[in-house]
This record gives sequence, structure tokens and C-alpha cells, in this order.
Amino acid sequence: MATVLLESVNKRFPDGTQAVADVSIEIEDQEFLVLVGPSGCGKSTTLRIIAGLEGSTGGVVRIGGRDVTHVAPRDRDIAMVFQNYALYPHMSVYKNLSFGLTLRLNRLFGGGVIGRGLRKIFQPQRASEFVRQRVEIGNKVRRTALRLGIEHLLDRKPHQLSGGERQRVALGRAIVRNPAAFLFDEPFSNLDAKLRQQLRVELKRLHRDLKVTMIYVTHDQVEAMTLGNRVAIMNEGRILQVGGPLEVYQRPANLFVAKFIGNSPINLCSGTVCKVGDRIEFEGLTPMTWGPESPRFDRLAALLEGVSGVRSVVIGFRAEDVGIAESEGAIEVEVTEVDRLGESTMVHSRVCGSPTQGSKEDKFVQKNTIEQMVLFRLESDAECAPGDRLQVKIELNRVLWFDPDSGENLLKE
Ligand code: ATP
Repeated sequence: MATVLLESVNKRFPDGTQAVADVSIEIEDQEFLVLVGPSGCGKSTTLRIIAGLEGSTGGVVRIGGRDVTHVAPRDRDIAMVFQNYALYPHMSVYKNLSFGLTLRLNRLFGGGVIGRGLRKIFQPQRASEFVRQRVEIGNKVRRTALRLGIEHLLDRKPHQLSGGERQRVALGRAIVRNPAAFLFDEPFSNLDAKLRQQLRVELKRLHRDLKVTMIYVTHDQVEAMTLGNRVAIMNEGRILQVGGPLEVYQRPANLFVAKFIGNSPINLCSGTVCKVGDRIEFEGLTPMTWGPESPRFDRLAALLEGVSGVRSVVIGFRAEDVGIAESEGAIEVEVTEVDRLGESTMVHSRVCGSPTQGSKEDKFVQKNTIEQMVLFRLESDAECAPGDRLQVKIELNRVLWFDPDSGENLLKE
């Protein structure tokens, strides 16, 4: 199988759109990498450049160590699965699965009835090899169909299949070719949520069984987090971060990644941090304080050196880092909405006392009239309703600090 390497790849379309900007990434052999980002960020173009369906305007693409930048798609030894299946409508499932292999075989041996007839007479050994390989193609198709649970559909035409079955056939067509790498462009986005989830599980199993390199494009961060060994987050043609699902969730490189990754939006709050005595205090709409006992104290303190001990930041914390606690340092919130999700309850709340009362002359009046919302998660049967007042505590050791101008995560190692 194969590594896939992109070195400073660029794509500028003739109308001037810079779809891919200086993308460099190495996808390891047998890795499952997911490229994720909002619509228009350049992920499909990147995938199409790897496949050879789109030419780059700069940089190098290597597959299995070979420079394929100018190699035709069919000679790159990759298979691509799209959202729209791209099955041949007039062919049976069997023919759809075997078509590529049969074509290659005919090209190798010289196809057609006459060719076959002449071979039988003049080259009996080649003729029997041809028959052997045809039988092997049949076996391969049936093995693949069995693996994907579509063996009972081999005689049907695509219009006689459901969306999920069609996508399995499209997957099967890629698998029978035994390529060096598989490329997927939002293959399940036409399917309903339940089927998508089922196919995701199947694809993960396939990846484990086949031990192949897979690159998968999606705009759905849940799909990215559940499928990938690593996730590459793209925006505006650039890769912002590449890391394991937990890494990009817990240690996002910047505000964009922090906001994009995660099922529930990350809680954000802007304000200033400063050293007060031997403590570090955050003064925003949600007050927080870190003392020398905090395991991150030295790192936080280092960030205040050279900026006169005061710095503007945006702090971020996840819904699961907030819990109910009536202890010192707790923040009072008023519940504004409750989402019962079954396995848990999401509570939307606003910090009591925000917006703070300020006179019209107060230069911060604008800032202070912003309500600080806090989203947090409770058990499924937690008793709470809009209007309730609760004391909550934020797990301070998991709070992230971002630079308000660059968006960079100031605490990322
Ligand atoms: P989506 O999730 O919506 O498919 P994407 O992240 O895959 O989006 P691309 O399809 O790679 O995005 O497109 C990246 C950018 O390039 C977009 O701004 C798009 O409008 C632009 N683009 C794509 N194809 C062309 C083209 N042929 N000519 C000009 N601009 C293009």
C-alpha cells in the first residue's frame, strides 16, 4: 500500500480563486485521514489533486514515494468514491463491480470475440491464462459483494437499489481494484443519519480489514472525529491543524478549530488576564482565578511576562468542563433553555449579573451589555428548567486561552 505526500500544493483557478494554498501533509501508509472544513474551504479540490482529476498550480504530489504530479488519474493506482455513486446505470451490480477489472484484462490480452477466438487457436496458453484471470475476477467480485453484504443484489441494476445499497456498490467497485489508496469525497452525505452512521462503522471495519491508506473528505465534524486516525482541519485553502480526534478537540491550534470541532459549541468569553498578588485572574463576564497550586500556573504566568502582567484573551471551555458545584469560585447562572438529548441534557444558561450595569459614559458599556452564555451538560434526568438559577464551576485546568487578534491557542505545546 502507500503513503500520500503533498508538498506545498497550490491551486489557483483561472478566475483567480485560490482554492488550495500551500498545503503540505504526509498521510502515512494504512492511515485513515479525514480532511474536514466548511463548505468552499478547498478540501474537494485537494482530494481531486491527489486523484489527478484536477491539476495543481504548484507543488508536488507523491503516492508510494512516486512523484505523480503529472501522472494521469488511471495510472496513480488510487480509487475514488463520490457522493453521487457514479455507477453505470445500464449495468448490473455484478458488471459495475467487474467492469474496471475486465477492461484492464481485455486491454492486457486484447479483447473482443475475434481476439479471443484467434488466441484459442494460436496462443492456447495465453487463452487459458485469460480464462483463469476472468474466473479470478468473478471470485473477487463475489468476495467483495459478500464483504459488503450485497451478494444478493449482483443481478440488479442501480435503479433497483436503495441509496445505501448503491453506495455499498460504489465502495465495492473501489475495493475490487485493490488500489494503493482510497479517496472518498463526502460519500455518505446523501443518506439519512442512521444509515450514515451504519456505513461509517462498516467503513472503519473495512479500513481495519483491508489495511489501506484512506483519505476522506467531509464538512461534518462528527464524521471526521469518528472516522479518522487523524483529522486535518482546513479553512480558506489552508490546513490549520492535523492531529488525532482527541488532540484537535482538547488542544485546538486556534479559535477556528476550537469552534469548528465539537458537537456542542465551545463556550467563549473575552476579557483580560492579569497577575494579582500570587494569583492570575481573568476578568471577563465570567470571573476565574488560578493560584500557584494549579498545575498550569507557571505556563499561564509565563504568558503574562513581557506584557506588563496584563493581556487580553479569549478563554474557551467545553460544555463537559462545567459542572454544578456550590463551592467557592462557583458562578451563578440562569437556565435559558434545556435540550433533552436522551443520553444527556444540554443546558443553555446566562451568567447572572451579565450584562453588568454601567453608566452610558462607561467606555466598556458596549462590551458589558453582551450576555455571557454558558452551555453545559448534565445527566439525562437532571431536574432543571428555564428560569432556574444554578451554581456552576468551570474546570479551570481545562480552560483554553486564545489570542484575540490571531486566534492562536496560547497554551498549545
Ligand atoms: P464543499 O464542501 O462545498 O464541497 P470544498 O471545501 O470541497 O466545499 P472546493 O470544492 O474544493 O471546496 O472549492 C474550493 C474553492 O474553489 C471554492 O471557493 C470554490 O468556489 C472554488 N472552485 C471550485 N472549483 C472551481 C472552478 N472550477 N473554478 C473556479 N473556482 C472553483
